[in-house]
Amino acid sequence: MTMTLHLGQTLTFTGDPFREGPSATTHSSRGAVLVEGGRVIETGDVDALRAAHPQANVEDHGDGLILPGFVDAHMHYPQTAMIASWGKRLIDWLNSYTFPEEGKFADRAYADEIAARTLDLAIANGTTTLTSFCTIHPGSVDAFFAAAQARGMAAFAGKTCMDRNAPDYLSDTAQSAHDDSKALIERWHGKGRATYVITPRFSPTSSPEQLSALGALWADHPDCLMQTHLSEQVDEIEWVKGLYPQARDYLDTYETHGLLGERGLYGHAIHLEPREADRLREVGAGLVHCPTSNTFIGSGLFDMAARVAEGQRIGLASDTGGGSSFSMLRVMGAAYEIGQLRRNPIHPAQLLWLATEGSARVLHAQGEIGRLAPGSVADMIVLNLASTPAIAQRSTLASDIWEALFPTIMMGDDRAIAKTYVAGRQMKG
Ligand SMILES: [Zn+2]
Repeated sequence: MTMTLHLGQTLTFTGDPFREGPSATTHSSRGAVLVEGGRVIETGDVDALRAAHPQANVEDHGDGLILPGFVDAHMHYPQTAMIASWGKRLIDWLNSYTFPEEGKFADRAYADEIAARTLDLAIANGTTTLTSFCTIHPGSVDAFFAAAQARGMAAFAGKTCMDRNAPDYLSDTAQSAHDDSKALIERWHGKGRATYVITPRFSPTSSPEQLSALGALWADHPDCLMQTHLSEQVDEIEWVKGLYPQARDYLDTYETHGLLGERGLYGHAIHLEPREADRLREVGAGLVHCPTSNTFIGSGLFDMAARVAEGQRIGLASDTGGGSSFSMLRVMGAAYEIGQLRRNPIHPAQLLWLATEGSARVLHAQGEIGRLAPGSVADMIVLNLASTPAIAQRSTLASDIWEALFPTIMMGDDRAIAKTYVAGRQMKG
């Protein structure tokens, strides 16, 4: 088996920078990552690894920064073609732009085309794992997993379920949502790098019967993940209260139907009631922060400091096409900006952690993705910290790795991604 020694700058986490600060990292200006059979074998000192493995091929990335590929914990691949649609807030944005586009995924060939386009954009932007909502059409899930499998990528996805408040052409039923999702679990879950995610879009578009049916399905398949949306906009929360008059709060609409759990992913979670925050923390659920989407659709300011203080499990996501960028660098930058509006400047170590290890933890895939450590999959990128003249001139003043990295977080895009590797195979650069 071919062994490859990647040389460059390396930056690895030794702990959680939200708990331990930026010192929970090890930076080497001349480090090495040894890869064999698609996995990381060892990381460490260049000279020591070269001496120990003289037969290894050497890929010298110069002063490029070798990092794990980014992990996007919430997005909608069927919305790729309508990203950056102007002027609407959540409910009107869904009706005007999203639903007509999602209707096109009844056509498997169109789903294949957009799945391929989305994954290629992800690779170009250094994102090696996507967690996607599909459409109500089972073929849209097949298209996504097949396209990820063809590229060797880890993929988390599921059929979006909606049986009310959606156009007829995008509506299923409680029973068909259950049965179609079950068939997809049997076809895809645990096959290669595919993980099935049971996916009710959100409470406004599911009847109590549909939420119950999906809760029962999750109970039958507890190693699947479950993803949905929670408390994104104030108007939406009022709508949920009207649709579920018995519910104590928005989260309760999921909780009472078996859809609250440790393997649950709750997108946005901006306007949380104290009870909701308590319950999410008690069960160890995953909150997924989608900052570019929250500013683009005008949803609100996620309270990172409060959620961290509570001890929540938090990941980071693009939420495309509600989010306005395929780049997790831009997503990290927006998380910083929202933090600033909350008077909480998030450190670049914390931003990077959210986009890699934090998202991997939300997906219960830590150790496998989101880090470069012995045994993890070699999903990795090489970041050029001087990818444009504007960034290059700023980075010359940097006195440490964080000052060198932060301008790329704030100003970088796909041009900063010099190389992308998926399971050790070079896919960009
Ligand atoms: Zn979303």
